[in-house]
Amino acid sequence: MILTVTDCLFCAIAGGEIPVTLVGETDRVLAFRDINPQAPTHVVVISKAHYPDLAALAAADDALLGELVRQTHQAATAEGIGDTGYRVVFNTGGHAGQEVPHVHAHVLGGRSLTWPPG
Ligand code: AMP
Ligand code: ZN
Repeated sequence: MILTVTDCLFCAIAGGEIPVTLVGETDRVLAFRDINPQAPTHVVVISKAHYPDLAALAAADDALLGELVRQTHQAATAEGIGDTGYRVVFNTGGHAGQEVPHVHAHVLGGRSLTWPPG
């Protein structure tokens, strides 16, 4: 397992080098508000250790994968959208528009979300 990758934005956030608005934290997972929200509530949930995407994390660590997913609901609840409903998105790879190559879940809510996504 790689802990930290130089020049990785989310490794820098996990290391405390870039300030974020924290929504939740465990030993291995961090949840913070997205800097460019796409819905009234938009939280990003990352593993503190570096995995490039969901597939890499799923192949490597079931427990951490479970913890990350659990923290998406935790973050939704902390932001007050646990009951109204929310969407969890793992952009994975180019066609999904993944821009930061460090596994993360988006938690979106606070309004009715359209389906299918663009
Ligand atoms: P993705 O396009 O799935 O890789 O998502 C990356 C997300 O990280 C985008 O929604 C960005 O707005 C968000 N983001 C980038 N920089 C920051 C930052 N410094 N703090 C919080 N969110 C960020
Ligand atoms: Zn990273």
